[in-house]
Amino acid sequence: METAVKSAPVELNVLNDMKTMGHEQIVFCQDEATGLKAIIGIHNTVLGPALGGTRMWHYASDAEALEDVLRLSRGMTYKSAIAGLNLGGGKAVIIGDSRKQKNEALLRRFGKFVDSLGGKYITAEDVGMNTRDMEFIHMETHHVTGLPEYLGGSGDPSPVTAYGVYMGMKASAKFVYGNDSLHGKKIAVQGTGHVGQYLIGHLVNEGAKVYVSDIFEDRIKECTYKFKVEVVDAEAIYDLDIDIYAPCALGGTLNDDTLNRLKCAIVAGGANNQLKNESVHGKRVLEKGIVYAPDFLINSGGIINVYGEIAGYDKQAAMKKAEFIYEVTQEVLKISSEQQISSQVAAMQVAQRRIDAIARINQTL
Ligand code: NAD
Repeated sequence: METAVKSAPVELNVLNDMKTMGHEQIVFCQDEATGLKAIIGIHNTVLGPALGGTRMWHYASDAEALEDVLRLSRGMTYKSAIAGLNLGGGKAVIIGDSRKQKNEALLRRFGKFVDSLGGKYITAEDVGMNTRDMEFIHMETHHVTGLPEYLGGSGDPSPVTAYGVYMGMKASAKFVYGNDSLHGKKIAVQGTGHVGQYLIGHLVNEGAKVYVSDIFEDRIKECTYKFKVEVVDAEAIYDLDIDIYAPCALGGTLNDDTLNRLKCAIVAGGANNQLKNESVHGKRVLEKGIVYAPDFLINSGGIINVYGEIAGYDKQAAMKKAEFIYEVTQEVLKISSEQQISSQVAAMQVAQRRIDAIARINQTL
């Protein structure tokens, strides 16, 4: 007689992981009719509703998707807190291939799940999503940002993001050189996409000597058509003799390999998650004497831009708010140097201090 093979009980650590990382709520969403499988992560709502984009990605497992949503939603808490916004941190992931499985019904079903949270989570665009997708989600819920301009949204956030990165870079220059002029500085911008090109515009205008790299020829062509820059090979960018390295492509470029090669005094760019390992490489950067402007602080122009949609959008106000990134970067670099802690840790402490202070006033009548 055949006996059913019993598999070992799978260890479920979701609640423990939530406790360790400080999450308030995780919402698992499933709908057979549309094939929707999604997870909404609400990390912290002390400062306001948890805002963060929805990522659609072909995750290898549910566990991988959960790990991503836990990490990303926590990151949003710190980003909004340090940017001085009254927003908490959240993020959502839809499990699936955005090129094959994304359709109106699936997105609208997801919108209904977002709506069921009554505004505790507000969604936006992320990898695998675009403004058209936000329109479908908007058909089912008002708790969505990043809508196209013709629907009253804030449109492309990259100009504000790039301006904030520029402010963070200037503050870093002031910290290292005693003045914030970038005139004559040798700056390598990795990635000539949306953020990269707007940033290059500011740098060229100020008279910096700009090196650029990209993996796509058309992006490089577009960039060299617009600006006077020197193109370098994608790999060679780490070996240049430069003053400032500005990662504006993908994350993880501050790692064991590149930190042995980089010869710059400052790292300041728009890419998310630049430190491959936050604690290990954050410390290595400090030990090498490189001044690192934390990514989640200086690229917060994107969330500043989107935040404007909640209170009525005004591009000038968003730009003005992004200017504060200069002051906060100075404060963070000062703490990092005085306490000999990585600037990443210093920035997280500044963000946490604000959350704790506001939590206290929320408790008083
Ligand atoms: P984008 O896709 O427009 O540009 C990225 C560019 O990097 C592309 O041109 C791509 O070809 C290039 N690239 C990829 N790998 C590369 C490599 N190894 N070497 C050189 N170039 C490479 O994206 P974006 O909107 O400009 O965003 C850039 C980064 O900034 C991302 O990490 C994004 O998460 C982050 N960010 C963007 C915003 C925003 O407002 N767009 C806000 C916050 C953070």
